[in-house]
Amino acid sequence: MSSPRTFDIIIIGSGMAGLAAAGVARSAGRSVCVLDKGRRIGGRVSTRRADGFTFNHGAQFLTARQPDFITACESAQAAGALRPWHVAGRDAFCGAPTMRNFPVFLGDGLTIRQQVEITGITRDNGLITLHDADGPVARTPQVLVTAPAPQAARLLDPVAPDLAATARSAAYAPCWTGMYGFAAEDLPGMAAPVSTKSGPVGWACREDLRPDAAASEAGMGLVVQAASDWSETELEQDAASVASVLLEAWQEMVGATPPAPRYMAAHRWRYARVIRPVAEDAPRQTADGMIGIAGDWTAGARVEDAFMSGHHAMKSLLATATPA
Ligand SMILES: Cc1cc2nc3c(=O)[nH]c(=O)nc-3n(C[C@H](O)[C@H](O)[C@H](O)COP(=O)(O)OP(=O)(O)OC[C@H]3O[C@@H](n4cnc5c(N)ncnc54)[C@H](O)[C@@H]3O)c2cc1C
Repeated sequence: MSSPRTFDIIIIGSGMAGLAAAGVARSAGRSVCVLDKGRRIGGRVSTRRADGFTFNHGAQFLTARQPDFITACESAQAAGALRPWHVAGRDAFCGAPTMRNFPVFLGDGLTIRQQVEITGITRDNGLITLHDADGPVARTPQVLVTAPAPQAARLLDPVAPDLAATARSAAYAPCWTGMYGFAAEDLPGMAAPVSTKSGPVGWACREDLRPDAAASEAGMGLVVQAASDWSETELEQDAASVASVLLEAWQEMVGATPPAPRYMAAHRWRYARVIRPVAEDAPRQTADGMIGIAGDWTAGARVEDAFMSGHHAMKSLLATATPA
């Protein structure tokens, strides 16, 4: 953004929490803008395309149990952006044709600016200014911060120390994710995703197991996610060696040694799954209602928790302020 614009509400983060919150603000008739440092919408509900392969390398599926989230999922399903995928029970879904299609659906029609990293928040005369490395980006009477807890804490320190302290009480487990592209005929068949509790492999899935998975001329993608404890131990390893180790572990697990993959990479999710959300009675917005927080770390470990946290946080912010 070249010159700072003013919105009724600005949301930092275009993950599930930010998108749910933006939807609530829009429905209430507020002007809302979502800012995100990533290249693409969705945060950890993420899909990577590389060398013609597709890898759903973040959240693998989602479950819908709460009425407002079920409603959002039904709309996405009607639009073809979500499909039932009973890998984890009757209430499990995956994005269609990729996981990212779900956040893309939720973000439709919203004002969202990707590749804007907020580095500072200041407040002056009843207005909040958000800054990136080049200076002021946008102004607003109300901001909702949905970045993962450690990043949120750094942003909140100068302007909302109580909320920063809330953020510091949350904890995450990391997740190393290996992505492998094979010639389709080289990859052993798989009846269902592999899911185990002990590492190194915690989950493995051929991309064509997903409903609506699009065929690719390049071949077939395989995603191997490491178990949390293994990811923690190997957190500072280099990505190339993690990719090799996870591939070997998966081969041993399935008892097959296919030819070397055509594509191989590993992604480190430093803040993957929440293992300790903040306390239920911890503050979630400033007393004046100018700054709020949301994100899975305020609610639980799942996509649905993140969505519902944004939904509730925005309702609460709207209840404490009038439009600018
Ligand atoms: C490997 C993995 C597997 C998972 N598997 C599942 C699963 O199977 N089922 C399930 O329900 N959940 C799963 N999860 C958890 C689920 O993905 C998350 O709980 C949920 O997506 C979190 O949403 P969020 O909006 O809270 O955060 P995020 O998705 O992390 O969104 C936060 C956004 O804030 C942005 N941001 C951060 N700092 C700044 C800044 N300074 N300026 C601008 N933008 C910023 C980030 O770019 C990001 O897009 C998994 C997660 C991972 C990583």
